[in-house]
Amino acid sequence: MSSKELPIVTCPHCGKEHQWDISNRFRPFCSERCKMIDLGKWANEEYRVAQPADKDEQDFPTPDFPEPPHQA
Ligand SMILES: [Zn+2]
Repeated sequence: MSSKELPIVTCPHCGKEHQWDISNRFRPFCSERCKMIDLGKWANEEYRVAQPADKDEQDFPTPDFPEPPHQA
C-alpha cells in the first residue's frame, strides 16, 4: 500500500461528494458552510421541540453577597 485511499463521502447537506479527510473539521460535511447550515437547521428544530411556549422561565437566583468590609 503506497498511497492511502481516502473514502469518498457525501455531504449530508448539499450531497456533494468529497474525500473523507480527518483534517476536515467539518466532516462529514464538505465545508464549514454546509455544517453550519445543517447544524443551524437542526438547532432551530430542536429548539422548537424542546422549548414549549408555556415553559416556565428559569431565573437563576442572584445570591446576596455581603458588602465587603471597608478598608480603613
Ligand atoms: Zn456540502
